[in-house]
Amino acid sequence: MRTVAIGDVEFGAGGFPVIAGPCSVESDYLAHARAAASSGADVLRGSVFKPRSGPDRFQGIGPEGIPLLARARDATGLPVIAEPLDAEDVQLLEPHVDGFLVGARSMHNSRLLQSVGATGRPVVLKRAFAATYDEWLGAADYVRSTGNDEVILCERGIRTFVTETRNTLDISAVPVLRTRTDLPVIVDPSHASGRREWVLPLAMAAAGVLADGLIVECHTRPHESWTDSDQAIEPPELKHLIDATRQLSAVSRALTLRSD
Ligand code: PEP
Ligand code: MN
Repeated sequence: MRTVAIGDVEFGAGGFPVIAGPCSVESDYLAHARAAASSGADVLRGSVFKPRSGPDRFQGIGPEGIPLLARARDATGLPVIAEPLDAEDVQLLEPHVDGFLVGARSMHNSRLLQSVGATGRPVVLKRAFAATYDEWLGAADYVRSTGNDEVILCERGIRTFVTETRNTLDISAVPVLRTRTDLPVIVDPSHASGRREWVLPLAMAAAGVLADGLIVECHTRPHESWTDSDQAIEPPELKHLIDATRQLSAVSRALTLRSD
């Protein structure tokens, strides 16, 4: 398997790194970043542009939030990733981030995939709501066609007939993709569940199937989160989740290797 690094954090190297932070960058992002870092996060989520389901909703703090990313990086020493919605956002963000997040809504945007690819920075590529594995890997190929193989696939749940969860976590994506690609695969239990009480169990499932890490939404006051307030967990819960998934991941790896 290929190892993909965001800053000096390696995905696919046998560890279980966790990307964490609020759904969107808020004015007190520095406090959120510090809390995520002291809970054990390895990489910060730092989205200043948000793809929302309707134009009347908060669209992200915008370019004014970009300086907060550098401040958070300096304060915590952690690398930061952000989500561009178009090629212009890629240019604005590139000097200030260690990697890019391509969201589920953008997975089919081949021009965006090529523009993030052309930066040479690592790209966390989320699966679209109803993408097959072939479509998802085709999207990864758009990034790779620029000569940039630094792609991490992220399973974030798909649309099914189940309505209790926000999406249905397709945990099979992790073992199946092992047979289809050299890229690391991480899991987003926050957007898969949509509810904070189900984030930990889905994160544990990801560790159990030997995923290469997680991306998790965390907020110092989840109920006040500007976006996705139902699924954000508090820093103490994040700390517990990181400790528990890291231990389970190590045990799962050892047991799986033993039974090979
Ligand atoms: C997000 O990461 O906040 C997000 C919008 O997720 P997704 O693209 O998976 O819906
Ligand atoms: Mn979110």
